[in-house]
Amino acid sequence: MSVNANPATPRLYFDDAARLDFDAVVTAHAPFGGRPAVVLDRSAFYPESGGQLGDTGRLGDAVVEDTQCDDSGVVFHVLAAGSEAPAVGQTVRGAIDRARRRLHMALHTGQHMLSRAMVDEARAETVSSRLGATVCTLDLDAPSLDEATLLRAERLVASVIEDDLPVRQWFPDADELAALPLRRRPKVSENVRVVDVGGFDVSPCGGTHCARTSQVGTMHILGVERYKGKVRVSFLAGRSALDELRARSGSLVELGRMFTCGPHDVRPAVERLRAELKTAQESLGDVRARWAERVADDLIRRAADEGSSRVVLLLDGEGIDALRALGGRLSARPGVEVFLASRSDGALQVLVARGPGSTLDCGAWLKAAAAAHGGRGGGRPDRAEGRLPGTVDWSTLVAGGA
Ligand SMILES: [Zn+2]
Repeated sequence: MSVNANPATPRLYFDDAARLDFDAVVTAHAPFGGRPAVVLDRSAFYPESGGQLGDTGRLGDAVVEDTQCDDSGVVFHVLAAGSEAPAVGQTVRGAIDRARRRLHMALHTGQHMLSRAMVDEARAETVSSRLGATVCTLDLDAPSLDEATLLRAERLVASVIEDDLPVRQWFPDADELAALPLRRRPKVSENVRVVDVGGFDVSPCGGTHCARTSQVGTMHILGVERYKGKVRVSFLAGRSALDELRARSGSLVELGRMFTCGPHDVRPAVERLRAELKTAQESLGDVRARWAERVADDLIRRAADEGSSRVVLLLDGEGIDALRALGGRLSARPGVEVFLASRSDGALQVLVARGPGSTLDCGAWLKAAAAAHGGRGGGRPDRAEGRLPGTVDWSTLVAGGA
């Protein structure tokens, strides 16, 4: 049987989004996007469209892992690998994954309310929306949105949820449609389905929605970002909002435990910690400068005793900051050539520098050393940094050996 001969699949969710079980006759086996799929004479499965993901569930024993539709409105129930398609002509029991559908209803209803709240509070129209698996977004035609506006919009939605208003979904005739205060114009001209969220928001939509606003439970704005000249608001509703807030609250409580304080005191605790870290880093810098001064003087004295302009040193466990402090002091001396290395994490952190009057090309020297020994590094003629394998014998390498 040709799929193209199928009329658009009648959608049982139009009348009742809470209907999760239904009987239908298999009319065709037709792959969708290369995946095995089944077409029915009617369906309560919502196919992915209008920014809402498709339903999952079962058709008899077969597992439906996705629902899609084509341009002519035929619904394809995409089967999971290993699921045997029920025979054409057979009557099957369709069962929709309740948690997923219930969440999509809350997200879609929450999205309508948030879109309206953004119009009311910020005169920001929704350009597009997407109800994703982990986060939902609204793209708004607005230059920016401040925290106070977001809070007002969220509170407005919360008040509509609390008011437990009925959500009506129906197909008005042309005259009724023309008289409705639609938030946005419909994308289709015939069979326009309208969703009226308790008189708060009226807009065309073919998705699945809650029967009452209280079923949304909670709607929470997660954040805003600028996106392609618009503002993208991310939000969650229903169980997903609760789960996300629970996870965030858990993280905050856990942080509080680390600081031995309550969740509300984490911020001042972090600020104190940052201030302490800054002080510690400054003291460390002072100590390092004094250390570098002493070591540099000692090294220069020894090099002078040996009649050499070359300073070679291998440290153990010092970071690049120590090498820089030391290199900076040493390379202030005219004619000096400085080769510093520190062994840490199984590698050699190295710094090569020269004093005024020296003709050593530090960058070229280190680049060649890295190429020969399998490390990386380079820099300017007067100063270079890099990493060499820990197996390199630093003094032999500097002396010109392997
Ligand atoms: Zn909707």
